[in-house]
Amino acid sequence: MFDEYSEARQEAAIMFRSTGIYVTGEEEERITVTDFELGDLRKEGAQILEWLNTSRVAVRLIALFPFQTLPEHFHRETKTDPGKEESLRVAAGTVYVYVPGEDNMTYGSIPRFQEEHYTVRHEIVLNPGDTYTLAPGIVHWFQAGGDGAVMYTFSSAARDGNNVFTNPATVKGCRINDLD
Ligand code: ZN
Repeated sequence: MFDEYSEARQEAAIMFRSTGIYVTGEEEERITVTDFELGDLRKEGAQILEWLNTSRVAVRLIALFPFQTLPEHFHRETKTDPGKEESLRVAAGTVYVYVPGEDNMTYGSIPRFQEEHYTVRHEIVLNPGDTYTLAPGIVHWFQAGGDGAVMYTFSSAARDGNNVFTNPATVKGCRINDLD
């Protein structure tokens, strides 16, 4: 039986390993494949391996397929959490990061028919070895270039229930975990 999710999981593991990152068989099994409940994984989705998520720090590895987009969101502040600070470091491929600012979109593109759910268009291009930090509360989205991409994310504790997506259809699909 064709299972898009297990295929995506295997493909992501191959992408991680091809960058030289050691991923155990057990870790491969728990790679989270999410389409953010939008129904088109290769268009809007992500493959995420959580390595660490303590009460203070989270480290994740993200694989994005060619042109795959991680939908626009921000990490909200709560009474007990000032909002997640998130740093990205690209290990392979190219990642386009979009944040508020002048619209200089050149290489990436808004997923078709989703224009209303992508409001920030200031493009930052990250290649292997580039690191970029998103302050808490900054609206952002990511897109891989044509070769796909692998990136590390280092952040303050990740409580995915605090991720606010521009597209309300993503409500449940965004949670890798929820410590709240
Ligand atoms: Zn984020």
